[in-house]
Formats: sequence, structure tokens, C-alpha cells
Amino acid sequence: MSYDYDLFVIGAGSGGVRAGRMSAGQGARVAVAESTYLGGTCVNVGCVPKKLFVYGSHYAEEFEDSGAYGWKVPASDFDWATLRDNKTREIQRLNGIYENLLNAAGVDIKLGRAVLEDPHHVRMGDEVFSAENILVATGSWPMLPQVPGRDLAISSNEAFYLDSFPSQAVVVGGGYIAVEFAGIFAGLGAETHLIYRGPLFLRGFDDEVREFVAEELKKKHIHLHFNTEVSAIEAPESLEGGKRLSLSGGRSLDADLVMYATGRLPNTQGLGLEAAGVSVNERGGIIVDEHYQSSVSNIYAIGDVIDREQLTPVAIAEGMCIANNLFTDNPRRTVNYDLIPTAVFCQPNIGTVGLTESQAREKYGAVQVFVSTFKPMKHTLSGRDERTMMKLLVNPADDRVVGAHMVGPEAGEIIQGIGIAMTAGATKTHFDQTIGIHPTAAEEFVTLREPRAN
Ligand code: FAD
Ligand code: NDP
Repeated sequence: MSYDYDLFVIGAGSGGVRAGRMSAGQGARVAVAESTYLGGTCVNVGCVPKKLFVYGSHYAEEFEDSGAYGWKVPASDFDWATLRDNKTREIQRLNGIYENLLNAAGVDIKLGRAVLEDPHHVRMGDEVFSAENILVATGSWPMLPQVPGRDLAISSNEAFYLDSFPSQAVVVGGGYIAVEFAGIFAGLGAETHLIYRGPLFLRGFDDEVREFVAEELKKKHIHLHFNTEVSAIEAPESLEGGKRLSLSGGRSLDADLVMYATGRLPNTQGLGLEAAGVSVNERGGIIVDEHYQSSVSNIYAIGDVIDREQLTPVAIAEGMCIANNLFTDNPRRTVNYDLIPTAVFCQPNIGTVGLTESQAREKYGAVQVFVSTFKPMKHTLSGRDERTMMKLLVNPADDRVVGAHMVGPEAGEIIQGIGIAMTAGATKTHFDQTIGIHPTAAEEFVTLREPRAN
């Protein structure tokens, strides 16, 4: 049977675009359907605009710190509309770049919502396309818990397009997005509260990193409310548009803006997966094998929708595997999930790769822990009370570095390089033999000498 396409990709986000472009590059006939925005979450309401906001939010401290370096900066004023609209223009430019990339690769772009009809057919409005292979790369969507008054809260999607900037902002959640946005709101001048249901946020990160970050955020006047749940949100008239949160323990908190960052669910609602016979997990994530093949042999899925790692470079790596495995004679590939470097763009940043200390102890028993905390050189003059932390975990049995963690300026930039070394199997001796770059913060990673007493 002949099909309209060799590959029909649903979703032009990080994973779908990469899989589509690379497959077309191998000569496959490819279509990519997109319902909302070319480039997906990362480009439109994720990594890119978030990082631009993080840059924007750091200027207040830069202005303050510059005094000690001799600069006399007149009283500064922040204009939200300028940042928001400049960011939006940049995103629109990137949308155009994604369109050009797909066109240049010979991919047919289909704008609109795609739904599976059966294992080989996709419906878009009145049109139906047939495809030998279908790739579902529909990403994820914010999940807000069922709290009374939930409609009064926003998710990160809306935070990128606020009409006005809040004076008081509450962020609910304790993961990546909550911590990053708490830094953004605070840096741009809002009185900022972060509410987390557990004893310490950033569950899954190294415990020492979590504690260190909590202390640093407190120094930046972010109010951290741990072990706290929101039982209701109201908008009493007396607050003139403001919101009142009822908190566990009988407390309440008023704010102009309430943002939930309580996780994201795979975007599979109404996608026709049942009609096609594709199995999903209890969160709606598409179940796939190590080659991203679903329960239906010609339907594949990658990225956030498979409910593994919700990170852009992971979705891209999975997309590369699809193109390689379906359209080349090379050996089939999969992604190695063991050493994924990641950064949280809170302020200061977290960069991390490999195991946490507790994971390393569980896996290897005895572990050597090398830790250093210090005041970044820049703040010796500025006087800012911000500290940096670096931590290496070493398996004494073979001297391999099994975890590297950093909290400090540009931690993501620094940990990326450490990730390469660890992927290559670097030992602590390799780190010690490496000559430092002076004066940098990163050189600390090659001068950690004494392990902490266990
Ligand atoms: P997406 O990029 O979400 O793309 C899915 C696309 O499918 C979307 O464009 C959607 O409109 C489209 N779609 C859905 N259903 C249909 C349909 N039925 N028909 C047609 N099209 C459809 N990751 C990082 O690595 N670093 C970061 O700094 C980072 N920051 C983030 C900040 C925020 C606020 C958020 C929300 C996420 C962030 N992420 C970050 C995560 C990252 O954005 C995602 O992991 C990544 O975008 C997933 O790529 P994807 O291809 O799986 O899905
Ligand atoms: P996360 O999964 O990182 O965090 C969700 C947070 O919400 C956790 O603290 C969780 O608590 C809490 N939570 C979950 N359910 C509830 C509930 N019912 N009530 C109260 N709190 C709840 O999700 P995010 O939304 O922060 O981000 C989604 C994903 O996007 C991230 O996991 C990450 O993969 C990706 N991302 C990556 C970024 C980066 O690379 N820099 C930046 C932003 C996002 P608990 O821990 O107790 O379960």
C-alpha cells in the first residue's frame, strides 16, 4: 500500500521538529502537524522566554553591585511591558526560524490539530492523511490540582504574557518552574512567596544542594513556606482584583498573582490514541520501548509525552534516534538516560549531573564527598552575601566521579563540561591532573583535595 507520507509527526516542538527534519534529510517524505506554535513549549512558553526573563531579573542586583566598582547608577525603574514585548518579538523571530528550518528540509508543515483515526491515518479538520509511520511528539501541559478557586490561579503559560506585573506574587510548587519563577518575580521587584507541600523543595536533587539553595533564596527575600498546602483561593472584593489563599495551619496570604507550577502531564487528551490502540500509563503518558515504539508497531512517541525526562535536549536526542532508526541502515540507537546534565535557572543557578549523594551511597556504599563553599570573587568587592557551592561524589572502588553538583553563577555552563568528562568516564585523578583556569569559579572543581569525613 502506498501512503501520503513515510512519517507523520504530530507536534512541532523540540522532539518533533528534530525528528521531522532529520528524517526528511534521509530522504523520507515527512509532514509535521502543529496546533499552536512552531517550536513547541521550549521556544514559546518554556526554556527560551524563561531564560530571557531570568536575564532580565538579574539587572537589579547588577545595578546594586556596580556601586562598589565605581559606577554611579541613577535610580532604576523596571518596565514590564518592555521586557514582555521584546521577549515576544524574539519568540516570533524564532517561530519564523523553525518554519524556515522545516521548509528547507522539505518537510510539509500542517497547521492545525491532528488526531489519530487508526494506526495509519491522521485527521486534521476535514482532511485525512495516511502515513507508514506516525510519531507522537505532543509534549506536556501544566497540571493544576483541584483546589477551590483554582481558576483564579495561572500556570507558567500565562506568566509569559501578563498584562501587568504583580506587586505580590505567590508561586505554588517546589520543582524547576516554581523555583525559577520565584527568582524571576523577586528579581523583577515583586514581593515573592513560594509555597511547597513538603519539608524542602527540589525533591530529587542532592539534599545539600536543596538546603544551600533555600538559604540563598531567603537572602534574596523570597519567602519560603515549606510544609504548607493551599486549601482555597478566593478573590474578595476588598482586595480589588487581588487573591487570598487559605493555607494549612489556618493562615492566609494575599497576592496579586498566584501561579501554580505543580508539574506537567503528557499531552494525550483527545488525541485518538484509543482508536489507534496505543497504550498509555496512569498519567496519560504513551508507553514506549527503548526504541520509542508504542504498543502499535508503526506508532512512535518521544519527548514529554512519554513521561520520562521533561527536558528539551532529551526530546531532541530521542528525535535523532527516530530518524536514525527508521530511515538509515545504521545500527538502531537509543538514549542513555544515566548521565543527563541539567540546570535549574534559579538565582544562583543549580547545575547537576550524575548521582546525588544519597543515590551514590545507596548504589556504591562508601562514597568520597568533596565539597567547597565560597564567596564568588565578584562579591568580595560588591559585598553581596551570596555563596557558591561545588560538590563532587567519587566511587572509591574505581575513582570514578559519579556525581557533580554546583550552585552558583553560570552553574549550567560549568556543569555541561563536567558532564562531558563524566560521560567519558573521568576519575577524580583526571580532575586533579587537569590544570585550572584562573581566576574562575570552575577551577575549584579541579582543586578539591580533601574528602569530607564520612
Ligand atoms: P513540546 O515542545 O511541548 O512540543 C509539543 C508540540 O505539540 C506543541 O507545540 C503542541 O502545540 C503540539 N501539539 C500538541 N498536541 C497536538 C495535536 N493534537 N496536533 C498538533 N500539534 C499538537 N527544558 C530544558 O531542557 N531546559 C529548560 O530551561 C526548560 N525550561 C522550561 C521552562 C518552562 C516554563 C517549561 C514549561 C518547560 C521547560 N523545559 C525546559 C521543558 C521543555 O520545554 C520540554 O521538555 C520540551 O519542550 C519537550 O519537547 P517536546 O517535543 O516533547 O514537546
Ligand atoms: P516538577 O515535576 O519539577 O515539580 C512539580 C512540583 O509540584 C513538585 O515540587 C511537586 O511536589 C509539586 N506538586 C505536584 N503535585 C502537587 C499538588 N497536587 N499540590 C501541591 N504541589 C504539588 O514540575 P514543574 O511544573 O516545575 O516543571 C515540569 C518539568 O519541566 C520539570 O520537571 C522539568 O523536567 C521541566 N523543566 C525544566 C527546566 C530546566 O531544565 N531548567 C525548567 C522548567 C521546567 P513533590 O516534589 O512533593 O512531588
